[in-house]
Amino acid sequence: MKRLMIFVFMLAPFVAILSQERQRPAQPTEPQQYPARMTPQMTEFFTPEVKAIQPADVVGMPPSDAIILFDGSDVNKEWEDRRGNPTKWIVQDGALVCVKGSGVVQTKRKFNDFQLHIEWKSPSEVIGDGQGRGNSGVYLQSLYEVQVLDSYNNTTYIQGQAGSLYKRYAPLVNSCRKPGEWQSYDIIYTAPRFGEDSTKYFTPPRVTVLHNGVLIQNNVSLRGPTLYVGIPEYSIRKHGALPLVLQDHGNPVAFRNIWIREL
Ligand code: MG
Repeated sequence: MKRLMIFVFMLAPFVAILSQERQRPAQPTEPQQYPARMTPQMTEFFTPEVKAIQPADVVGMPPSDAIILFDGSDVNKEWEDRRGNPTKWIVQDGALVCVKGSGVVQTKRKFNDFQLHIEWKSPSEVIGDGQGRGNSGVYLQSLYEVQVLDSYNNTTYIQGQAGSLYKRYAPLVNSCRKPGEWQSYDIIYTAPRFGEDSTKYFTPPRVTVLHNGVLIQNNVSLRGPTLYVGIPEYSIRKHGALPLVLQDHGNPVAFRNIWIREL
């Protein structure tokens, strides 16, 4: 009996500690040591593998994954007029030349987001001024015009000069070459997205333009389709993929080396 009493007496402190432990509020756990526990491999991914393509030997020429829209020969392969008939634009010295009164040319293919390369030349013989001098246009998805104009020593409204998003954004600089010299546009285009409302953009069209290699439009967003007169927002109508269009503005502007990469 005496031994038992001693044993219980010896256990008492432990029982007291255990009961105290139960009553003590839970201690907050140590915060996660982030990013100390990470390894380099956690931010290194190997899939999906990036598709390899063959870039051109000369910058400005099409890479292996480009769709060739015009290589200086047959225009009827990729282009047609607005009604789907063969265009009256002519191929001359490897260039596609606008013929006054024949209307636009448009691609048979339709596009959403893309990277476009196109070269153009205004007539070497300068006729007219302002908007009447070497005027054409590259219409992205048939609706949004990147202006083509002889803007070499040619004053016009700034949102209407070469490289403008017509009636919306003037180019950041005037990078025009002399009339009769070949020039290039490299255009990166993100098509608009639509939600429930078919008359409003969920996200607007976005455009970046390099003119002769110089950035002149830096990821600008558009309010609506290009209009000569009017409020672009009122003309928004839900659309999907649409052709690329070149404008007939009555001047014999020439185009060549047209290629596109769908994004
Ligand atoms: Mg135009």
